[in-house]
Amino acid sequence: MEENAEACGLEATETTPCDEAKLLDAAYMHFREAVSHLMLEPGMAELLWRGSRSYVVEFPVRMDDGSIRVFSGYRVQHSTHRGPAKGGIRFHPSVDLDEIKALAALMTWKCAVMNIPFGGAKGGVQCDPPELSLGELERITRRFTWEIARFIGPERDIPAPDVFTNAQTMAWIMDTYSILAGYTVPGVVTGKPVDVGGSLGREAATAQGVVYVIRESAHYLGMDLQGATVAVQGFGNVGWHTARLLSELGCFVIAISDVFGGVYNDKGLAVRRDVRAHLDATGSVVNAPGTESISNAELLELDVDILVPAAIEGQITKDNATRVKARIIAEGANGPTTPSADVILAEKNVFVVPDILANGGGVTVSYFEWVQNTQKLFWQEEDINSRLDAIMTRAFRDVLRIAEREKVSMRTAAYILAVERVAVAARLRGIFP
Ligand code: GLU
Repeated sequence: MEENAEACGLEATETTPCDEAKLLDAAYMHFREAVSHLMLEPGMAELLWRGSRSYVVEFPVRMDDGSIRVFSGYRVQHSTHRGPAKGGIRFHPSVDLDEIKALAALMTWKCAVMNIPFGGAKGGVQCDPPELSLGELERITRRFTWEIARFIGPERDIPAPDVFTNAQTMAWIMDTYSILAGYTVPGVVTGKPVDVGGSLGREAATAQGVVYVIRESAHYLGMDLQGATVAVQGFGNVGWHTARLLSELGCFVIAISDVFGGVYNDKGLAVRRDVRAHLDATGSVVNAPGTESISNAELLELDVDILVPAAIEGQITKDNATRVKARIIAEGANGPTTPSADVILAEKNVFVVPDILANGGGVTVSYFEWVQNTQKLFWQEEDINSRLDAIMTRAFRDVLRIAEREKVSMRTAAYILAVERVAVAARLRGIFP
């Protein structure tokens, strides 16, 4: 296996020590593991791993107090082998080039697992949105869009929401890009508000996809979702809708958290009535009525049937994985489990549905939005959800088949499927010149 990876042009981990706390190193370890199961021609693995283009921009923004601040922004197009580059833009203090490179590669594999005709990209601006006003966020978004406008476009690279960006951010990007183009270009971004060309169902799509793979996992494991207990880490777009949809399905969501801390009720939380309403009123889930306080770390170790990490990367590590008690982990976030935690979870027989499969519902409905924008014809929400269900279910079964055949984890199986699909496209397109 090791030899095969090296024969493909990848260096051995012995000579390139990996720091698994770094998402880029973790992504590389997963990729390399998949390559060891594939018979790729020399050079192919390196071609697939290294990707295409990285843009780094430094740009000034006028702040509310009149001062000028310079921000660093990134857009990485990892692959365009299977179609235009696709992936979100995040606003977060941890954003740097390596993080965005890793997330762009994850998008390549995610789109390939979903079998939608996109490559992978990601972008980000290093900033701390909770400390910024709406006006500052708008000016950052518009100037960043101007900086990368030459590199994006409906046929080139299509951004979408990610951590701390949302439909409003996408509307600003679409507007700025359209002003530069001289006409309205809805297809330059997905995840837009429905009133400016967004798709029905996109808001809840990532969570809806998470729920479909949880349903498939439970079916596979013989677990009844009625009455199953759930903990959800993160209460942004993905966490909120996942908790809501699972409780509507009859699960007991017993713990939820956000950046400030978590809430717990062993009888099940009233997700919408208590937790969401409290968040809307106070800005956090902490101290929602009828709940006890719990920390983010404690939430991950609760005795639940299903754990959904839906916050940020690097949450389940070698330090806490031994104490995780969930039977199913569905990764709503990108990269929440480190590679050594993966090994521990496999030994404990935890069924981990990896990010590039579990949270692929978001980009899949982004694909539907892009198709609708291209056709200028809009679909009903029921059509969107049933098409999403079909794609998620097929992807889940494709990955499960490989996991059983190769006797590997669902993560390695998903990477094998993805890398193989992108390799086929790269081979068919050939090398220019
Ligand atoms: N940011 C989301 C993700 O990580 C959605 C990407 C998209 O819709 O392009 O999958």
